[in-house]
Amino acid sequence: MNQVNLRPISGVVFDIRRYSIHDGPGIRTAVFLKGCPLRCWWCHNPESQSPEPEMIVRGSRCIGCGACIEACPEDAISWGGNGTRTSADERGFLSSTVSQISFRNSHSGIEASAGLAGSPKQPAKASHPEDPLNADGWGGSGAPITDWSRCERCGICADACFADARERIGREMTVDDVLAEVVRDVAFYDESGGGVTLSGGEPLAQPEFTLALLRACRAREIHTALDTCGFAAWNVLDQVRPYVNLFLYDLKLLDDARHREVTGAPVGPILANLRALSEHGHAIRIRVPVIPGVNDDDESMRQIAVFAAGLPHLQGIDLLPYHTTAADKYARMNKPYKLTGARPPSEARMAEIARIFER
Ligand code: SF4
Ligand code: SF4
Repeated sequence: MNQVNLRPISGVVFDIRRYSIHDGPGIRTAVFLKGCPLRCWWCHNPESQSPEPEMIVRGSRCIGCGACIEACPEDAISWGGNGTRTSADERGFLSSTVSQISFRNSHSGIEASAGLAGSPKQPAKASHPEDPLNADGWGGSGAPITDWSRCERCGICADACFADARERIGREMTVDDVLAEVVRDVAFYDESGGGVTLSGGEPLAQPEFTLALLRACRAREIHTALDTCGFAAWNVLDQVRPYVNLFLYDLKLLDDARHREVTGAPVGPILANLRALSEHGHAIRIRVPVIPGVNDDDESMRQIAVFAAGLPHLQGIDLLPYHTTAADKYARMNKPYKLTGARPPSEARMAEIARIFER
């Protein structure tokens, strides 16, 4: 007899944002899925790129209490250098009076306030060469270091850390888990013409989960938008497209060599998928990030405008000016940020670019 797999469909989600007004029409719930095949230089969600859950540590917030060391079931965290630990008594005291005191860790020399709402002073900057996510002072003398080769990314240490110095990015959720969040705001969707937007990362990088989420929303008559970079096999798009009310389709450049350089992927499949979706009559908005030194020149924008003008069905084009808010995330994750020093385009430049699309 054939065995039936009753395991619920699940995926890795790194954020669910309610009351979003920037991810499609009306008031929406944006569900951010982890994993992306592109590596855009300007990606404002670098924590979304890897398909797996990840850990972030913020050494500047660490108060050296050692709770993470005790919590870790894999013994992946330990005191580094010459550091020794805050005593268990001190820790108990700290956690029971967390909002009231500040203390000095005599071993690490870190002076900090211990309250969640407090503002710990920065420990001396130090780094540990074996710590891939070490970005801001983690692993110095007296502060814990993490052996990432032992770490299972379970997030238990993050739950134990009352200073918010450790964070788990991404969690496994079933379709029902996500739906339970989504249906809370059905009344807002109905009133505003909103719905659900699947974003990322790249939702199509988790095709089974994305398809199941879209179908579940359709079954509840919830409007769906798919925010996609378009870099996916056509058969994946072909399966999900009947359940998508609106595509939010990123287009960065038409020049293939430059596209490969700044995103790590060819542009051909992206253009072919966009054309095919349009020819099938789908509602599409093209989203063009305007990135200084990458595509903010007249010629790059003109090429996109000409291509878009040839699509039979297009609801509109959104020009999204580059912003610098992601730079800090790269630093926290110890990832290189290629656009350091880049400035957002001026309003005057954005207006000039908009005129290119109006012609
Ligand atoms: S995520 Fe889990 S395994 Fe990794 S360091 Fe934290 S508690 Fe240990
Ligand atoms: S990371 Fe958090 S739990 Fe671990 S020592 Fe620092 S403050 Fe304590």
